[in-house]
Amino acid sequence: MNVDYIIVGLGLAGLAFAEVLERNDKSFVVFEDDSQNSSLVAGGVYNPVILKRFTPVWDALDQLKVAIPFYKSLEEKLSVQFDYPIDIYRIFTSVEEQNNWFNACDKPFFEAYMIAEVVKNTNSHIHAPFGYGRITNTGKIDTKALLEAYRSYLVGKGQLINESFDYSLLELQNEAVSYKNFKAKQLVFCEGYGVVKNPYFKNIPLKEAKGELLTIHAPDLKFDFIVKSSIFIMPLGNDYYKIGATFNWTDKTLNPTEEAKEELLSKLDKIISVPYKVVEQSAGIRPTVKDRRPILGRHSQYKQLSILNGLGTRGVMLVPKLAKQLYSHLEENQILDTIIAIDRFEL
Ligand SMILES: Cc1cc2nc3c(=O)[nH]c(=O)nc-3n(C[C@H](O)[C@H](O)[C@H](O)COP(=O)(O)OP(=O)(O)OC[C@H]3O[C@@H](n4cnc5c(N)ncnc54)[C@H](O)[C@@H]3O)c2cc1C
Repeated sequence: MNVDYIIVGLGLAGLAFAEVLERNDKSFVVFEDDSQNSSLVAGGVYNPVILKRFTPVWDALDQLKVAIPFYKSLEEKLSVQFDYPIDIYRIFTSVEEQNNWFNACDKPFFEAYMIAEVVKNTNSHIHAPFGYGRITNTGKIDTKALLEAYRSYLVGKGQLINESFDYSLLELQNEAVSYKNFKAKQLVFCEGYGVVKNPYFKNIPLKEAKGELLTIHAPDLKFDFIVKSSIFIMPLGNDYYKIGATFNWTDKTLNPTEEAKEELLSKLDKIISVPYKVVEQSAGIRPTVKDRRPILGRHSQYKQLSILNGLGTRGVMLVPKLAKQLYSHLEENQILDTIIAIDRFEL
């Protein structure tokens, strides 16, 4: 079977690239083996403000300009809601932080996002004596709902192959690839941290970080915004809240750990004072590149092989723009910005 593209991996990267291909009438198949789950467990938050220091996220406004309509049209196409606009309330820990907040609010970048006031805490179950800074025009993508809907969509069209891509069976031809009974002119690898098993791209300089999350049930908590402090507390509806996330740079497994659970709960107990029950724990590995920028482009030697990876901690916001950029690079010879191009590294 001849196709324009083979994609390996259906996390956010594979999904966004598949969608760009479809919008450009290109034929493709996707291989997915459920070996990684960063996109499935992600908090899914999109927010252009770095909440530690009140500084801008790199390229955030441009990314959001592409991302918001991208998800909207996917919602319409799949008839599923997964984009939930929701404000973020950053707990201030001191008067100094309040002052820093007001200073940041003066910058034009933050105009549409940071509200220049201290929001008083009215929820007696939350410990926030210095109040909150409110960020608006932010939201969360229910990445699990999105991926499940997109997966069913591709299954329905016979474009999803639920098996592991076996690199040893790949045959490289002149300006094409063959894999089992498929022949394609390009193969795009979107394996997230799974890229470490890929003989063509395993040397990309990753500094991956395992992250863990909890879901709790807390009937008395009652708020409808994301609370951000040393952790985030995100309402899911029906008195369920997602709590996250940890960072671990040594453990490469996807197993939930007692250590991460204890860390999250000890931080949570400093913020809220209501009874709750932990109902779920999940873990994933964020595919972060050493310089904290995504990585995309063709293999230096095998031009029919490309990569879309390095989404790190902010895949939701980044990937719609990146998928478009990679497509324009492959199909229209547009040059990729050095900051994201794979050839910024000598591999
Ligand atoms: C705890 C946690 C919280 C997060 N919170 C947020 C957040 O709030 N906002 C945000 O924007 N980002 C968040 N992220 C980051 C976000 O999840 C990632 O940036 C993004 O999901 C990475 O997507 P990906 O498609 O590159 O990788 P993945 O999601 O890992 O997808 C790769 C896919 O490739 C498949 N695969 C790998 N190898 C093969 C193979 N050989 N054959 C077939 N299939 C293969 C895997 O099974 C997987 O489905 C979070 C991450 C974690 C872990």
